[in-house]
Amino acid sequence: MSANPVFAGLPTTIFTTMSALANKHQAVNLGQGFPDRDGPESMRAAAAKVLMEGPNQYPPMRGMPQLRQAIAAHALRLHGLTYDAESEVLVTTGATEALTDTLFAFLSPGDEIVLIEPAFDVYRPLALAAGAVVKSLTLSPPHWRLTPEALKAAITPRTRVVLLNNPNNPVGRVFTPEELNDLADAVRASNAVVIADEVYEHLTFDDRKHICFSSLPGMRERTVRIGSAGKIFSLTGWRVGWVMGPKALMDVVTNVHQFVTFATPPAQQLGVAHGLTHEMEFPLRLCRELQDNRDFLAEGLSRLGFDVLPAQGTYFLTAGIGKLGADKDRAFCERMVVEGGVAAIPLSPFFSGGTPDIYVRFAFCKQRAVLEEALARLKAYFNQG
Ligand code: PMP
Repeated sequence: MSANPVFAGLPTTIFTTMSALANKHQAVNLGQGFPDRDGPESMRAAAAKVLMEGPNQYPPMRGMPQLRQAIAAHALRLHGLTYDAESEVLVTTGATEALTDTLFAFLSPGDEIVLIEPAFDVYRPLALAAGAVVKSLTLSPPHWRLTPEALKAAITPRTRVVLLNNPNNPVGRVFTPEELNDLADAVRASNAVVIADEVYEHLTFDDRKHICFSSLPGMRERTVRIGSAGKIFSLTGWRVGWVMGPKALMDVVTNVHQFVTFATPPAQQLGVAHGLTHEMEFPLRLCRELQDNRDFLAEGLSRLGFDVLPAQGTYFLTAGIGKLGADKDRAFCERMVVEGGVAAIPLSPFFSGGTPDIYVRFAFCKQRAVLEEALARLKAYFNQG
């Protein structure tokens, strides 16, 4: 039997491994990043109504018109971006499908793609499956800054795609205007298309503003922007995402989409259209709550000896474990879940080279009582010996 080596050779993801360990040991799971409270009731009611009354047959392939218009209006209202709902916005089954569609749309065998590491785990296998050659641009702790030198070295006339994840999972970086401008300069000197994974666009802390990459001079024409209703509304199980970009690029992305999922369930689509129109207070409140959670967790972890790094956005904070023993990150997390009853995610799997391996990622998109319990357990664990 032969299989595609990219997928046949994939290990179980670190998220699945750590969640299985967390379940086995009844640990508090601050590993996998999903909220533990569902998003707005009015959205769930709107979706339930559609389930009962229809439509329940194949929706339009590009997405329900109401949702496409709501997505275009959201981009205009929030970021001043203008996209035509008919030809430049595509609804996908989560941002994960949007990543699949865009990577397959722009990469051919032998093309170069630049991934900025630490990188979300979906990107590399999909790029490799498309036959691409992956060039890593590895950021360095503790500030994880994009520098002009590193950008110039990584992005060349051979680069076909650059994948930017801003705000960044796993390290919570919100890239500065200067860094984004440096990236735009490097992209301008190449022939590359930019896939901007902006699923955490609403979750930026301390009054930082999210800057859409496509809003930078000259970038609209060569950027596709990915969003996720799951992240905006704490409805990650709904699997509603989107891509927007110039028509010429979107035509190709849409051609991939029609053979990957063709469409996304209509009830969820109309629930999200309701949310983007009537529930935009929700992500503002969520962002404030998450910022408080970040502060609470950061302070607690610092007191225990973790070297907490700045977390500027997303669901996540990262912390150095150097002062807490000799373990590498993976062994540290395995021991912490088994002996301390708290699950986190080692950072090394987010780097193709496997280092640095002295940081761990905690998710704080959880109720305060859950974070309190996690800190109480860690206090008992780290102070016992
Ligand atoms: N991109 C990033 C950076 C993510 O963290 C995630 C979810 N963990 C996704 C994309 C996928 O989002 P969705 O759940 O909408 O598929």
